[in-house]
Amino acid sequence: MSRSDDPLIGPLRYLRGYPAPLVAEVRTLLADGSLAQRLLKKYPAPHAVRNDTALYDYVGELKARHLRNAAPLAKVAWDGKLASIHNALGTHTRVARVQGGKITTRREIRIANLFRDAPPEFLRMIVVHELAHLKEPEHDKAFYQLCCRIEPDYHQLEFDVRAWLCCIDAGGAALWQTGTAP
Ligand SMILES: [Zn+2]
Repeated sequence: MSRSDDPLIGPLRYLRGYPAPLVAEVRTLLADGSLAQRLLKKYPAPHAVRNDTALYDYVGELKARHLRNAAPLAKVAWDGKLASIHNALGTHTRVARVQGGKITTRREIRIANLFRDAPPEFLRMIVVHELAHLKEPEHDKAFYQLCCRIEPDYHQLEFDVRAWLCCIDAGGAALWQTGTAP
């Protein structure tokens, strides 16, 4: 199949790997302009985690409840440089550094600014994703099992987040713009 025949170029590329009927449904909703309205109806309000301190507390609380034994986080922050929606699913870094002859690892979680203006369910999905990477580096079965243990609705939420990314990529307006500075 040549690239131009690939049905999942453009906005729908965020749904690669999902069953064809689901992708077809999103394609239809995107084409008739009702995808954004569906998302707004299902997720009516944005969360209130506005700044890095609030995000640190939010992530810390989830970590304390579900991943108590994982190494502590050196930093948690909103990241404007991740504005590109190609990276919207976040980054999880282990910054290795040598200190006094020993290699230490600083674990950081950065969440794309895009998720500042998002409903609480979407923030939870991305944070659960990044927290799960503290234990499971790859997107494998063990990783998704851990995500679902922390958030039983994880798969549905990731699908809805990806549908939202399709909307944005297709040029849709911001759905949960709060417009307030932290
Ligand atoms: Zn990941």
